[in-house]
Amino acid sequence: MSNRIQTDEKSRVVIATHNQHKFLELQSTLSELPFEFLPLTNWSQAAVSETGKTFVENAVIKARYASQRAGVPAIADDSGLIVDVLNGNPGVHSSRYAGEYATDEENNNLLLERVKAKRNADEPVKASFVAILVYLEHADDARPIIAEGSWQGSIIESPRGDSGFGYDPLFLPLDSALTVAELSPSVKNRDSHRAKAARNLVHLLSDRLKDRS
Ligand code: IMP
Repeated sequence: MSNRIQTDEKSRVVIATHNQHKFLELQSTLSELPFEFLPLTNWSQAAVSETGKTFVENAVIKARYASQRAGVPAIADDSGLIVDVLNGNPGVHSSRYAGEYATDEENNNLLLERVKAKRNADEPVKASFVAILVYLEHADDARPIIAEGSWQGSIIESPRGDSGFGYDPLFLPLDSALTVAELSPSVKNRDSHRAKAARNLVHLLSDRLKDRS
């Protein structure tokens, strides 16, 4: 059963990203919500500093900034890769693991180098992708809605596959013979940490809106 909420007029919500790909993906995965989604680029070209120690803090920072600039409610995401033998790194540093302007290849090479020293031949190197999505009603909202999604798997010894981005070629989801970079985009968009976080946000936000009506 769809949990689409009936409203006469759609409220505008800013999605706190300048990345067109991410905007379209979130617009699609959140389409059950009764909102008209707009990209932050409509109001600001600046990137806000992600100074938090957690994915939640960073997502709140981004949502707060976007809501303040746009003057409407905001949704922001933050995500990354957690590797158990690296004490949870690269974590919130995932996009800049090998340096501020590091490429995906440089980040992947550094990850492989650091994991190599800790790898035990008999055991998979356990890892998980994590995504947090935050909804803020306004820039000073003290009660953010926080949705999480995770994807369990392991880090293989050398990259495989050409699709996706980031650490996809190194990440083997649990019970999968294919890395994320070898999966079709439709499978990734169904199973990923971001997809799960988006489904959770739809439920949480729908409940909040129903409480109000
Ligand atoms: P952000 O959420 O845009 O700050 O990105 C965090 C970083 O985590 C990305 O730049 C990637 O390095 C990594 N990451 C997050 N999600 C994925 C994914 O689905 N595949 C591969 N890498 C990811």
